[in-house]
Amino acid sequence: MDDARREIAGGDVLIEHGKIVAAGESLPREGAEVVEAAGCVITPGLVNTHHHLFQTLTRAVPAAQDAALFGWLRTLYPIWARMTPDDIRLSAEVGLAELALSGCTCSSDHLYLYPNGARLDDSIEAAQRVGIRFTATRGAMSIGESRGGLPPDALVENEAAILKDSERVVDAFHNAGEGAMVQVGLAPCSPFSVSRELMRDAAILARDKGVRLHTHLAENDEDVRYSLDNFGMLPGDYAESLGWTGDDVWHAHCVKLSPPEIALFARTGTGVAHCPCSNARLASGIAPVRAMRDAGVPVGLGVDGSASNDCSHLGLEARQAMLVARLRDGPAAMGAREALEIATLGGARVLGRGDIGALTPGMQADLVLWDVSDLALAGQWDPVAALIFCAPVRPRAVYVGGRAVVGDHRLLTADPRDLRARAERAVARLAG
Ligand SMILES: [Zn+2]
Repeated sequence: MDDARREIAGGDVLIEHGKIVAAGESLPREGAEVVEAAGCVITPGLVNTHHHLFQTLTRAVPAAQDAALFGWLRTLYPIWARMTPDDIRLSAEVGLAELALSGCTCSSDHLYLYPNGARLDDSIEAAQRVGIRFTATRGAMSIGESRGGLPPDALVENEAAILKDSERVVDAFHNAGEGAMVQVGLAPCSPFSVSRELMRDAAILARDKGVRLHTHLAENDEDVRYSLDNFGMLPGDYAESLGWTGDDVWHAHCVKLSPPEIALFARTGTGVAHCPCSNARLASGIAPVRAMRDAGVPVGLGVDGSASNDCSHLGLEARQAMLVARLRDGPAAMGAREALEIATLGGARVLGRGDIGALTPGMQADLVLWDVSDLALAGQWDPVAALIFCAPVRPRAVYVGGRAVVGDHRLLTADPRDLRARAERAVARLAG
């Protein structure tokens, strides 16, 4: 993923103090600890630009399996309202562990409800345990059912309190520096669950603090209809009218972005988190990613919340991105290498990170060793493309800042059996 998109056969990557010093052939090994990666393709770590990790404990909920966005949300809100801070932490840890095992080294998260005393701090704690980079966004909902919004009143917060807590978490956790493990963004949930005033105030606060802005936009036809009926404009124009365009903003989904809105995003450098599995799962549609990329819109991948995917697997997401682009725009709409680029460099740009996404000198040593000896790849003719075309394989190793998070195909920072047992207990309680 360097500027020339070089692929180096039999190459080495030299790492010092958590950063890549060199990538090329026959690098000096004297004094270095050598990790043998023969039989592997090494790529930059994958980057996830949209998730709701609190939803991991509500995968495949029967009543929400076959609904579209608004009905799906109405079914799940009451379950989410029962979650405790421990549930939020556990749910995040399970999702992040799964992401790490899919080759993800940096994930964002959009936590927009805080039941029973939960805080953004809970998801940050989970990320620190799993050991991947984390862009936590302080989400929020403020317009409940009684005021024409979608969520129940019990799940919405007072807008002054939202802004106060937003400021608290930015001051407490945001690291603007190179190699940051935790960054914080502001993320009112969506046009149909917060007021225009909160959107505007969040944008002002984010710019004052130098942090990024994130929300959902133009997810499906209902969403566009809500925007036209309530604000008299298309979602992209609504975003622009509130200060929600710019290279410090990224929007999730954008399935229904029109050509003028795509041009607006390109002109302003506004990013998009493309979530093809979630968009298929909820029958929202296929985002016009070919047109976005051709126009110059920054695009990254997002697995989206685990209640609408229902997996936190970036390899599957990259594969799905390639497949649905072809369904929409023909067989040449997206190749495997472009899908890989969107999953790495694309995501890094969307999250505003110039220090990850490529195996080039000066970048953070976030890299994945993909074992091409797996049966799923037996018979391949092009190991790089096979990573996307074939069934995703579990990485042999995943490094974040030079530190192994996955080794020998196993997660080194948490015990998946323990996570699964705790998740089962939590689900039994939430369902009861
Ligand atoms: Zn979402």
